[in-house]
Amino acid sequence: MKVLVLNCGSSSVKYAIFDDGADKVLADGIVERIGGFKSKLKHRFGGGAILEQERVVPNHEEALKIIIDLLINGTIKNISEISAVGHRIVHGGEKINRPVAIDGKVLKLLNECAELAPLHMPHNILGINVCQRILRHAVQVAVFDTDFHQTIPDYAYIYPIPYEYYEKYKVRKYGFHGISHKYVAKRAAEILNVNIEELKIISCHLGNGASLCAIKNGKSLDTTMGFTPLAGLMMGTRCGDIDPAVVLYLMEKEGTCLDEIARILNERSGVLGISGLSSDFRDLEKAAEKGSDKALLALEMFIYRVAKGIGSFIPVLGGLDVLIFTAGVGENSSTIRSRVCKMLQCLGIELDEHLNLEKRGIEGIISTPASDVKVIVIPTDEEKLIAKETIKVAEEVFTLVN
Ligand code: AMP
Repeated sequence: MKVLVLNCGSSSVKYAIFDDGADKVLADGIVERIGGFKSKLKHRFGGGAILEQERVVPNHEEALKIIIDLLINGTIKNISEISAVGHRIVHGGEKINRPVAIDGKVLKLLNECAELAPLHMPHNILGINVCQRILRHAVQVAVFDTDFHQTIPDYAYIYPIPYEYYEKYKVRKYGFHGISHKYVAKRAAEILNVNIEELKIISCHLGNGASLCAIKNGKSLDTTMGFTPLAGLMMGTRCGDIDPAVVLYLMEKEGTCLDEIARILNERSGVLGISGLSSDFRDLEKAAEKGSDKALLALEMFIYRVAKGIGSFIPVLGGLDVLIFTAGVGENSSTIRSRVCKMLQCLGIELDEHLNLEKRGIEGIISTPASDVKVIVIPTDEEKLIAKETIKVAEEVFTLVN
């Protein structure tokens, strides 16, 4: 069964087409800066050849058409070969907590969840709408970032505010990046050749968005993101945890409206807000080397919060066997990994600095044999996990239909 996986962001569409039970990638790529004058397209054919283009891509529908044209010119003969489309959906709220085939009822629930993740959900839903037009014959499946965190216990997901707000509005911690945390935890168990049920894992998904997840017996017990993906660690442009009174104070002092305060916390904060330079950690590392105090401060703050967050999950798990680094920063920045691990030496974590330098964007153990905790770099592969979940749901649908 050929499965197309789509991850529709605000200005980008990431995609991959799989075959053979999602074990074979036929092609993948990304269309970025959709809506701008110079959108960027990067397509990788199954054989490894890469096509890079700059062209005008006015909207997501056009991006999808370009992707399908590319697939037809070299990967598949006809779009009817695509049996299912797996959509990465950021928020399923409390009502949907497993991968589902998308019908009118599911779409209505997704629209209800949209206000819970306003930066992501409208684009996720747009992707579904476009596919329902262009790939009408295929089963559309929603796979949720919140799904993996359904095992977090109530004492960890309820906020200490009047309980009626949980009852009335379902205000609680949901957690995100679940697809990534689940994938890397499973992969860590495979690499170590140990049953996942026997491992206490902390997964550090450090990208433009960043979160930590405490995993025991293969289940998420806690995570740093919350009601929305704004909570927890400091991120590229998001503030993470701050005293909530700061929001009230700023609104009063600056006369800031709700929309503006949401923009400040989501888009103008994090390492970008502190450095005033960039949300990209590569830029910050370069600027810090050249002596930028603000870039240095932003990096110090980020590292401090990651290490502190890891420490806070030790009692949740009752110890730690495996620490995983994944996503753009986690996979590539040996400096950040090294500095986080130095702060955690009291836990018996010891990095092999040579291995740490070597593992940039590639999988491997980076701790010394003597380290009490195995530290592993694992490039995340959310698309593969989405494809596998999509196949399961599509097969159920096909069984019902036949
Ligand atoms: P993601 O959200 O997982 O795609 O991660 C994107 C982020 O990864 C970018 O904003 C960069 O800051 C970061 N990144 C990518 N490559 C590197 C690198 N070699 N060193 C440091 N950070 C990197």
